[in-house]
Amino acid sequence: MRGVYIGRFQPFHKGHKQVVERYRKEFDEFLIAVGSADKSREERNPLTPEERKEIIKNCFPDIEVIEIEDIEEGEDPDRDWAKEIEGKSLADAALSQNDLVKELINKHTDLDLIEHDLFDPEIYSGTEVRRRIRSGEEWRYLVPKCCTEAVAEKVEEIKESGIQYEFKPGWKKENAFHGTQ
Ligand code: NAD
Repeated sequence: MRGVYIGRFQPFHKGHKQVVERYRKEFDEFLIAVGSADKSREERNPLTPEERKEIIKNCFPDIEVIEIEDIEEGEDPDRDWAKEIEGKSLADAALSQNDLVKELINKHTDLDLIEHDLFDPEIYSGTEVRRRIRSGEEWRYLVPKCCTEAVAEKVEEIKESGIQYEFKPGWKKENAFHGTQ
């Protein structure tokens, strides 16, 4: 049996890690699909797919990580996206707790749906990690030790690039490369 765990992982946090540890042993092969691979350097999706892959690989070097882009155009983009997950992962089962993802997997694919456990979701949340990073609050304890340094490194790279991603404090106008105000 092959299982695929779907998510944006912006960034990979301790809740995600617990899902991997708890469920990977139930499959012969377990892979991670990094969604929204076409999106990066924006508020909800600061990290590129390569950066997210690298961060996950710091914790799980032996787990295959694939990239899935969002589909927003066409007759039925959500159906096409679900089919893409099925086709690219070659999995038998998909793990998610995202309501839309669960609906689409059930409606448009033959994959078994596994509604995995949530681990302290009010604490371990990508939105909360991103909010803390932006506001300068402590965020490291929400991210697994195995990838804290990798996440910190990417955060610094984003700041230094001058891309106008609401970093405060630390973002400096003089670091901007192009037309940011
Ligand atoms: P996410 O990184 O927010 O979460 C990944 C998974 O981890 C989810 O199942 C979530 O419920 C779970 N999780 C979050 N906190 C947890 C915790 N504390 N403990 C345990 N599990 C926890 O990713 P997401 O937003 O669910 O990713 C869905 C992806 O599917 C996105 O990239 C989205 O764009 C994509 N998608 C695309 C289309 C399309 O292109 N048409 C349609 C639907 C979904």
